[in-house]
Amino acid sequence: MINVNRDKANTPEIKKNYRIPKVYDALEIVFSNKCYLCETKKEASVNFDVEHFKPHKGDEKLKYNWSNLYLACSNCNQYKSALFEDILDPCNPEHDVETLIIYELSDIYDEPHFYVANIDIENPPVALQTIQNTCDLLEKIHNGHDEKSIKKTAQLRLNIQNKAITLTNAMLAYYIADRDSDSVAQQKAEKTIKKIVSRHSPYTMLMRSIAITFEYLFD
Ligand SMILES: [Zn+2]
Repeated sequence: MINVNRDKANTPEIKKNYRIPKVYDALEIVFSNKCYLCETKKEASVNFDVEHFKPHKGDEKLKYNWSNLYLACSNCNQYKSALFEDILDPCNPEHDVETLIIYELSDIYDEPHFYVANIDIENPPVALQTIQNTCDLLEKIHNGHDEKSIKKTAQLRLNIQNKAITLTNAMLAYYIADRDSDSVAQQKAEKTIKKIVSRHSPYTMLMRSIAITFEYLFD
């Protein structure tokens, strides 16, 4: 999850249908064309949907309210459903989803994991339970919770793994170029790393957890 700014897009006019190109266009700008939960890019091969952050349960005010519409892949949309109502909101400036959660991909062949960051328990910036719920949801989305969902989420883990391999290769190329004082190769590697850790790329937070020594390249 990354923090996003809803003001980046003009509010689209929504009448009795929110699944319209204008809404999708605006959501793509706000969410960098990614699922707000798993950070998969909206591409032809993945089904995406308009997600209601607060389940509307038939309430038209919530159903057609632009600020309640989020961009999610259909997998995350199904997972979240009404089970996870109390989670961090990446559109809320008070919910810093980039620092309240620890995104972990300790080994590129491991499952990704999500933990509540070290925060002041006495005076948490957001209710601890809300952060924990978000971590629980991200765990389920990425790793599944039973035989069927473990299978269903395998492609996401594979996509993350492939991206992580490209990133670690670029990091290795950087270190070799550094050792050899090859500034051209070094710049080329930096450019690749910068692109992968960008907030507009897929799986930003997991990639950043690997490339923490390249923090100066984060946008
Ligand atoms: Zn997703």
